[in-house]
Amino acid sequence: MLIEAAAYLKEQGISSHKLDARLLLQHVLNQPTEFLLREPDHQCTQDQIATYEQLLHRRAEREPVSKIIGVREFWGLPFKVTQDVLDPRPDSETLIEAVRNTLPDSNQVYYILDMGVGSGCLLLSLLKEYPQATGVGVDMSSAALAVAQHNANALGLTQRVQFMQTSWGQDLTGQFDIIVSNPPYIPHQIIETLEQEVKQFDPVSALDGGEDGLDCYRQLAPEIVRLLKPDGYVFIEIGQGQERDVESIFENSGLKILSWKKDLQGIARCGVFQLANP
Ligand code: GLN
Repeated sequence: MLIEAAAYLKEQGISSHKLDARLLLQHVLNQPTEFLLREPDHQCTQDQIATYEQLLHRRAEREPVSKIIGVREFWGLPFKVTQDVLDPRPDSETLIEAVRNTLPDSNQVYYILDMGVGSGCLLLSLLKEYPQATGVGVDMSSAALAVAQHNANALGLTQRVQFMQTSWGQDLTGQFDIIVSNPPYIPHQIIETLEQEVKQFDPVSALDGGEDGLDCYRQLAPEIVRLLKPDGYVFIEIGQGQERDVESIFENSGLKILSWKKDLQGIARCGVFQLANP
């Protein structure tokens, strides 16, 4: 059955057809990763076959596997995902790595802010890395915040995190040791050209960065300067080729660049900043 399913997805133009057919079948059977490798001839019930066919059809319609099964792994942790949140990308793990490398002592009591928290993948992964830390996640979308809260509860982090529905730093007071953000940064006219999996199933509000893709950095920079502790650090995700522009927006607001961290493809993905004149 797996072979036929993979062939169907291939015919529908899904390049990851083999992997996706396997992941969806595992989900239907509610079995761990190795199961189908151990039991390739496992017999499914009629109900399971019917469910599997429905899921394959959704994948053929370009819904990503993560959104069909409702879970995506990020930084080795399972995150619930829905159509209300950006699907966590491996690229964004660059940001977690950058925080770890910059601040290697995991026992410090950091206060962390994530602006545009979405599923919570950045903030909650950091709270796992720093067991003494507490954090605040803000988002405009109440539906996204419900997903983030679910993930916080599921990861046992309820006591160390608070969520607020607001725009960037608006309504926030206090000073943070670490500020992270993966804002929308795709130039508006590019959205139409993105693959179906992204443009149909990620919320456009998490992608669209305005005409030149940089609107959110302009909005974020003054808020960051207001909310960062004098010795605090900012870790910000950018789109390909945006490092010069983001650097100059941030520098004009009183921040200084420390370094750019590259993702696995060698693309500058995360900027590390501090206050220029603390
Ligand atoms: N990295 C996402 C993409 O390439 C975009 C996420 C964002 O705009 N922050 O589709």
